[in-house]
Formats: sequence, structure tokens, C-alpha cells
Amino acid sequence: MWLLDVHQFGVPGQGAIYILKGKRAAIVESGTSHARERILSALDELAIRREDVAWIFLTHVHLDHAGGAGGLLQELPEAKAVVHERGARHLMEPSRLLASVQAAVRDRFPLYGTMSPIPEDRLHVAHDDELFTAGGFRIRAVDSPGHAPHHLCYFAAGERLLFTGDATGLYLSEKLLPSTVPPSFDLDLSLATLDRLAALRPKKLLFTHFGTGSPNLLAQYSGLLRAWVDRVARLRAGAADEGELVARALGEAAREGLPTGPARGDLAMSVRGVVQYLAQREGTT
Ligand SMILES: [Zn+2]
Repeated sequence: MWLLDVHQFGVPGQGAIYILKGKRAAIVESGTSHARERILSALDELAIRREDVAWIFLTHVHLDHAGGAGGLLQELPEAKAVVHERGARHLMEPSRLLASVQAAVRDRFPLYGTMSPIPEDRLHVAHDDELFTAGGFRIRAVDSPGHAPHHLCYFAAGERLLFTGDATGLYLSEKLLPSTVPPSFDLDLSLATLDRLAALRPKKLLFTHFGTGSPNLLAQYSGLLRAWVDRVARLRAGAADEGELVARALGEAAREGLPTGPARGDLAMSVRGVVQYLAQREGTT
């Protein structure tokens, strides 16, 4: 199994995909459409024939995870993209998804690339606990809502490796960061998912953002999420507007040593995701 750095947003160490070589080869995540050439060259380098790729396992349909899938499928004639049933329609008809991403990421939208619609016969809608054979691994789909309602993790049960997508946050430069982006972050669902993932007893977490981490991070992320939501709720009460709230939350995070450099935009979005979650919970939207 290989990790490929797709240089998400032009920066190394931010976005990974995983390549499972062997019979019925597979890719976990597709990156954005900007990752396409990098992924195809990596397949060539690993001597994986394009017709031997059977699966593109997508954890969810956000563009940094699935944006490039449609373009890749045009190059991988036998492959199907594996997706949660609640995400499939966004891949077949991406216009609403693109509009919602544009609203969430604002001026960073060009970094997210484009999205080719995926024909229905190139999608495989996975159900919870479904088992796949991929590159010599047995891969189990694990329903894992919270970051998004249509999130799947993938678990290589024999090796106890867990592909976490965004269900367990960001792990950049070996620091955990919240990934609580709009429009559908949900704290309670996230915490229940973290318990469920811990019950799988993984040996290693394989983050999309970025690389391998210890399973202890599951419990750490539960604590971090609760504190993060509490922080945004507290600061929201005293902030004049969203801009001030974001600035204060990032200021506090920086003082605690959270890496806010290249991740600053992600964190700002994660503040807005919590604001939206709190508003929904209060029934004001
Ligand atoms: Zn992501």
C-alpha cells in the first residue's frame, strides 16, 4: 500500500490518497481534479495498469476527497467509485455540491478544481459493513456520519488499518485539528462515530489530511471536538459578527500552539461549520 501526496492546494503534506496494488487494485480518495496527473503517473510508476484498477473508495463527496473521481474514471476503464448512498446523487449531478462548496470556501474555490459528473453505472453505492476485495486487502465500508452525513470510513480488517477520511479530524504536522466544516457537521453524530471507530480496534489511522497516526488519536479527537464546539459557542456569544468570531477563535487556537499556517483557511471554515451547527441545533435556521 502506498501513500501519494497529491499536493492539495499546491502544498505538500495536506492531502493524501492511498494506492492498493495487486489484483483488483484500488485507490482510496481521488483528491481534487488537480490531482489527476499525479495519480496517473503514480499508477504508471507502480506498474499498475489502468484497466486493473477496480475501485476508487471515496470517504465522502467533498471536493478534496472526491472532486477528481469523475475525471479519473475516464482514465480507469474498469473502475467504479464507491460512495455512501447519501452522496451518490452529488457525484452524478455535481452542480448543487459545487455551489455549496463555493459558498463555504469563498475565494479559495479555484483550488478545489472542477468536477465531472459520474454516470450511474460507474458508481457503487456501498452499504454499511459491505466488504470489498481490493489489492489483496479485505476492505470494509463503515458508515461514519458527523463530519458529513454521507461519510464512510474504510477498514482493512486483516491489517487493522483504518482509512479515516475526515471523520477523525485533520492530522497535520502531527497535530490534530478540528474538521467541522459547513454545511452539515454534527457533534453528536461525530462523537458516536468516534466510539464506533474505536470499537474496531484499529492499529493505525490513515488520514487523508495527512498520513498515519496512532489509534489514541480517536479519543483525543473526541475531547478536542467537544472543546472546539464549546469554544465557538462561548466566543459567538461575545462576537459582533462572524469575522470577529473567526479571528478570535483562530487567535485562541494559535496561542495554544495549534498549527494555523496553511491550515488557517480550513480552521476558519471549521468555525463557520460549528456556527451553522449551533444555529441548527437551536432551531434558528
Ligand atoms: Zn477533507
